[in-house]
Amino acid sequence: MTRFQEKVVIITGGGSGLGRATALQIAKEGATLILVDVNKDGLEESKNEILSHAPDTTIELVEANVTNEEDVKKYIEITVDKFGKIDGFFNNAGIEGKQNLTEDYTVDEFERVVSINLNGVFYGMKHALKVMKEQGFGSIVNTASVGGIRGVGNQSGYAASKHGVVGLTRNSGVEYGQYGVSIKAIAPGAIMTPMVEGSLKQIGGENWEEAGKEFVSVNPMKRFGKPEEVGYLVAFLLSNQADFINAAVIPIDGGQSYKY
Ligand code: NAD
Repeated sequence: MTRFQEKVVIITGGGSGLGRATALQIAKEGATLILVDVNKDGLEESKNEILSHAPDTTIELVEANVTNEEDVKKYIEITVDKFGKIDGFFNNAGIEGKQNLTEDYTVDEFERVVSINLNGVFYGMKHALKVMKEQGFGSIVNTASVGGIRGVGNQSGYAASKHGVVGLTRNSGVEYGQYGVSIKAIAPGAIMTPMVEGSLKQIGGENWEEAGKEFVSVNPMKRFGKPEEVGYLVAFLLSNQADFINAAVIPIDGGQSYKY
């Protein structure tokens, strides 16, 4: 497929996991990529992996912290200056944070998680939407989580931030549909990326692989999701095929969030 021929797409958290998997998928379909991350080595690894599969891809790497509005302005400006437009924006950088009961969840940790997962997403939308409104087209996919539509436990900062991402998606989707811009959120369950590995290590320590087996035993599909499965979904949502999907939140979790 060539859904991303001539398309310019920004991906935050592009140096790992879901950002990298999505970048790879849309690069294979012709996208010009702006990969944003705080992790410079991760960005380089993503670039090398993409070029090994799609050698003609134009890739711009931007080291930036999504909690810093100036950094956010920088990655938007670089994109517009170099490529003249923003077709798609995968607003995805995020962290899980240290798991704890609410009473033991520190204020510092709460603020750190919310600052990356919620403020970072808001800054990105604020500056990308200005460009998209003016150009009259564009698609944004925000990364929420099952933790943004259900209670998961031990994740006050994560839950607050991801529910906030869902709220931002619905609010701005309603505002910007009239300008030809669509905004959606994905709500992944447990997808095997470095973030989930870290989460299982918090639960199971050295026995994290055992903890992983127990974790997926309650999933209807009895397995973790794969990063590339999220990549396929986000590629569709960023493409023109999904232009009429707006202000919507799409779970990708093997059905876990519907089980009780
Ligand atoms: P990951 O740790 O593999 O990748 C996250 C990337 O974000 C990293 O490269 C990291 O350096 C970058 N990042 C972190 N803080 C940043 C900052 N302040 N500025 C810029 N970049 C920053 O994790 P992942 O699993 O790919 O997670 C991607 C997104 O998906 C996150 O928002 C996460 O909450 C969400 N998510 C993941 C899962 C899952 O199971 N993997 C489930 C639900 C939601």
